[in-house]
Amino acid sequence: MNDIRIDDLKISDFETVAGMVVKGVAAAVKTVQVEVNHRAATRQAIIVALRKKGFTFETRSDWKAKPGEVKADLDWDYRGIALHHAGNSFSCDANEADQLRQAERIDFKRFGHISYHYAIACDGTIYEALDIREKGAHIEDGNTGVIGIVMLADLSVRGEAYKEEYANKPWLEKIKKINEWALDKIDLTNQKPTDQMTKALFALVEVLLKFFPITMLGGHREFQKIANGEGRACPGYWGMMLVKRLRQNYKIEGPKK
Ligand SMILES: [Zn+2]
Repeated sequence: MNDIRIDDLKISDFETVAGMVVKGVAAAVKTVQVEVNHRAATRQAIIVALRKKGFTFETRSDWKAKPGEVKADLDWDYRGIALHHAGNSFSCDANEADQLRQAERIDFKRFGHISYHYAIACDGTIYEALDIREKGAHIEDGNTGVIGIVMLADLSVRGEAYKEEYANKPWLEKIKKINEWALDKIDLTNQKPTDQMTKALFALVEVLLKFFPITMLGGHREFQKIANGEGRACPGYWGMMLVKRLRQNYKIEGPKK
């Protein structure tokens, strides 16, 4: 199959291994069981499914992701999908690969590795951000079992960060966040998601639903409320519109405790 690339399997700290075990008394029973690393196979199957649908999918090795300085924990039993937007300093006018690199830089400063599992650019390219076998760092106190997808754009509207994150905070807290507040006030780059990125998002969610028993899908702000009660603007007004459409389309509930 030409949509499988050998180098997809050779990434970061993982290897895909298939071992053969001879079961029972070898002479009497000639049963050979092939043990496959199913997590690696699932990761690969997600990539192949999206490429087959005609989407450009770049693995970590394709876009030369930086290996984490901090090793992420492992995670697997995903029940939720959280949608994010990259935020105020991102724009669809910028180069897609640069935007991903910028998201990586921001995450490295905070977590020592990229925080989301998948990133979607304005041109509809889907990037593998963090390996799906590793735990994300996209929801404070609430990453276990949640797949993180980030839209590489600014999907909030002006003033939204203030309303969602600081409006109810004491003045001292507001002053600490003055830079973010100012960015939000002069936020001129926000935009609606492009058609290409919306199509890629729907395709990615559809594929993930085939591989994991997902029961909830929501925006970062919804997952954050449940995790620790904090307010978040992410994924922005337009991001939340996508969340609502996805929930309707795939009949999935919002996040619950
Ligand atoms: Zn977020």
